[in-house]
Amino acid sequence: MTRPSPDRPALAPEPASPTPSPLEAAHERLRRLGARVTQPRLCILACLIGSDEALTHQAVIDRLPEAGETIDRVTVYRVLDWLVDQGVAQKRAGNDRVFRFSLVEHEAARAQEHRQHSHFHCTRCDRTFCLDDAAAPAQPAAPRVPSGFAIEHIELTVNGVCAECGKRTRAAH
Ligand SMILES: [Zn+2]
Ligand SMILES: [Zn+2]
Repeated sequence: MTRPSPDRPALAPEPASPTPSPLEAAHERLRRLGARVTQPRLCILACLIGSDEALTHQAVIDRLPEAGETIDRVTVYRVLDWLVDQGVAQKRAGNDRVFRFSLVEHEAARAQEHRQHSHFHCTRCDRTFCLDDAAAPAQPAAPRVPSGFAIEHIELTVNGVCAECGKRTRAAH
């Protein structure tokens, strides 16, 4: 029988990983906030950190990590609103009028990405579609701005009727 060597720790220290898991990142985030780290907060924040799209309440419930499977719906609502109050998450109603939650950093990164291409806005269904680079025309000429104003970027949004709404309109006639 071998005795554990006293100068060696029972468990090897975890190698420092460059990208922490969503749960680790959530833990660190709550700690930096100076907030109490509770299992629901940890699991729900981990859901937002791990998702690259905004999530509805239901989507958060569906994606709760194993450790948070017993968290009830009311707690999910409460913690999501708390995260919004803390400035960690953003709450926004989509075109379907359903609230979606996302991490503020993810939202900022997405906004940055959407600045790189043009958009098509359907005036019937109010949906906005990304137009990929290949389909986007050259940037429009900068409009004249009042003296002292500085242009940072120009966004192009084409307004019109999307294919789906167009089909619906034609079918109705
Ligand atoms: Zn876009
Ligand atoms: Zn439409």
